[in-house]
Amino acid sequence: MSSLDPTWVERQADISHHPQSIRIGPVDYQIVVVENLISDDQKLNGQIMYNPSVIKLDEDMGPQMTRKVLWHETLHAILTHAGIDNEPENIVDALAYGIIAILRDNPWMRELVNNQDIP
Ligand SMILES: [Zn+2]
Repeated sequence: MSSLDPTWVERQADISHHPQSIRIGPVDYQIVVVENLISDDQKLNGQIMYNPSVIKLDEDMGPQMTRKVLWHETLHAILTHAGIDNEPENIVDALAYGIIAILRDNPWMRELVNNQDIP
């Protein structure tokens, strides 16, 4: 997108510049970048741990995949907070990709959320 601030693009190329936490409803999750993220002998791109309120991201991802995985784990949290804990992974992924595309391709949707005239 040509309208992107080059500084923003540069920052997105380095996942270490993500904020260190994300507020999802009443919980602030710490975002931790992990080398070689593995759970139960399975290589993972991301993992949300509810009790310690941590979202782990594997460091071996490019900026676009990191963004998708952060949205994926965020959507898990939103659903879990609502008492939904059996969501299929493909649905979570479809929503993550879809939300990113909508927000990227329709900047007015982001502005609508940030509009100070609408509480
Ligand atoms: Zn998942």
